Amino acid sequence: MKRVLVTGGAGFLGSHLCDRLLAEGHLVIAVDNLHTGSLKNIEHLAQNPHFEFIEQDICEPLDLQVDEIYNLACPASPIHYQENPIRTFETSVLGTRNMLLLAKNHGAKLLQASTSEVYGDPQVHPQVESYWGHVNPIGIRSCYDEGKRGAETLCFDFRRVHGLRVKVVRIFNTYGPRMHPQDGRVVSNFVVQALKGQDLTVYGQGQQTRSFCYYSDLIEGIYLSMQTPDDFSGPINLGNPHEFTILELAKKVLELVPETVAGSGEAGSQASVSKIVHRELPADDPTQRRPNISLAQKVLDWTPQVELDEGLRKTMAYFKSL
Ligand code: NAD
Ligand code: UDP
Repeated sequence: MKRVLVTGGAGFLGSHLCDRLLAEGHLVIAVDNLHTGSLKNIEHLAQNPHFEFIEQDICEPLDLQVDEIYNLACPASPIHYQENPIRTFETSVLGTRNMLLLAKNHGAKLLQASTSEVYGDPQVHPQVESYWGHVNPIGIRSCYDEGKRGAETLCFDFRRVHGLRVKVVRIFNTYGPRMHPQDGRVVSNFVVQALKGQDLTVYGQGQQTRSFCYYSDLIEGIYLSMQTPDDFSGPINLGNPHEFTILELAKKVLELVPETVAGSGEAGSQASVSKIVHRELPADDPTQRRPNISLAQKVLDWTPQVELDEGLRKTMAYFKSL
């Protein structure tokens, strides 16, 4: 039984990761400042003797005896990470520095949740790990993009200078149950809007693309990445390689509304009353994104299993149940 720390453990991905690690028989400590996470995501673990929750900001030093650290703490939705950009940058850089020091002091292994945003608005498509990216260092997304890039730098320098065992995973857009209804990212926005009969807000013309990974596939990829040999640090892309325009996503969500409503036993399961409306495209919004996952396929023997229709059905059923 290992003692495993999950920072951001009350968030969307962090809480699912806690479930997975507990199912593997480990002792799990979740640390979270509840900025975008919620105690609701981990309330089912409150009585579990192998689980502990500590409310703390990772920018503050932390000392715990642990064997492994999954560093997921950081707001991930543009509206939330742009709310307090200085804090976002500090969380990635100072927070990751604190977690690396903790790993160093206790001989622990650390996995860093990096992001496809390190590629910025990519000019290489699909994105391979060897691509250095195309990032605006002074724009409204920079606090997140450059913060995560700085965190990767710290991980690799701790490996070179102190021999620390680190793993860097670059996560591409992931969605599913436990996303906060007001999270602000595109899947939860469209699903919540569609289920409420509100119009779906497509930013710009909706021709920008993303590749959507269901959370269960992503958690499997993260877990497998931590088990790789000590001399493997990545970075490694984790995401679903099937690419959609945002307009296609909006149309798919609208198509699935009648069966979601019918599935919940409610009357009136005809076509959605929502329409698609266009809103201003935010600055520096990447025009295309799709992971090349050859490395993950080779090193982890991992390929996502859940395609968008199935994942959306499950996600919509979850939001309907709230
Ligand atoms: P989330 O917002 O649900 O989870 C982030 C968690 O970190 C929240 O519980 C929040 O309260 C906590 N947190 C934020 N700042 C903190 C701080 N300073 N100290 C302690 N806790 C703090 O988002 P998520 O989608 O679960 O993202 C988890 C991680 O995965 C993030 O690091 C994010 O950058 C990364 N990631 C996610 C995606 C995705 O599509 N979901 C894509 C790329 C990267
Ligand atoms: N988007 C949108 N409507 C929304 C929310 C997002 O059209 O209500 C677009 C956004 O402009 C971006 C894409 O959907 O092009 C994905 O946005 P998200 O915030 O989910 O993640 P990103 O990949 O941009 O970090």
